Amino acid sequence: MVNFFMDLLFPQMECCICRQPGLYSTRRPWCRSCQEQLIKLQGMLPICDRCGKYLVEGDGPLCQDCQTRTPPFKLSRAVGPYEEPYRISTKVLKFLGRRQLAYRMGKMMAAVVKKEPRFWPIDMIIPVPSTKASIKQRGFSQTELLAQQISKELKVKMYPHLLIRVKETPSQRECTREEREKNLLQAFDVRKADCIKGKNILLVDDVFTTGSTSRECARTLLDNGANQVNVITWATGKGC
Ligand SMILES: [Zn+2]
Ligand SMILES: [Zn+2]
Repeated sequence: MVNFFMDLLFPQMECCICRQPGLYSTRRPWCRSCQEQLIKLQGMLPICDRCGKYLVEGDGPLCQDCQTRTPPFKLSRAVGPYEEPYRISTKVLKFLGRRQLAYRMGKMMAAVVKKEPRFWPIDMIIPVPSTKASIKQRGFSQTELLAQQISKELKVKMYPHLLIRVKETPSQRECTREEREKNLLQAFDVRKADCIKGKNILLVDDVFTTGSTSRECARTLLDNGANQVNVITWATGKGC
């Protein structure tokens, strides 16, 4: 119903990815050829069995990163590679505030979770908390929007305020892995540890790049008593 009004109030006159003119909606925010491209890139290359990153030649079944440092999460998977059209759709959702996109992206993320038995059982869904600065700037948290949709699809409750940011981190895009990890150290905390005790948690983020954020969030949840943490993201990078 909300989607219906959103479409009525904010009709989309172009594909949100390639800007092909037409009438688009929450259920169909991008054109057929962009959809085909998204599907085509899914599962094209071998991925790391643990963190889901696309492997560089010669690696396998685990990437270099997972071989040297076992991640605290059990499994991480993404819908596709962090390249076009996956890259642009993340940016449109994040920077242009096309909330409607989260509906379709969340649906595709939920489909990946549904077909991977190792994700189950899932007791609760928790989004990676956005920085206060980014929520203030955009008025919403893109990870929470995605988690909301995944929660509807999987019929598992989403808890947006249990995992919180206790340290604001500068923009991580330009940072090296070492800088990212240093910035993220002790950046998260759990509000009501009782609620996550013994629970199997699905953590939701938009992009998995170095994996530093997922690692730190998962570690925080496990330190606070969670039984197991798995991660689902929209896109993921290649190699280390
Ligand atoms: Zn398009
Ligand atoms: Zn890996």
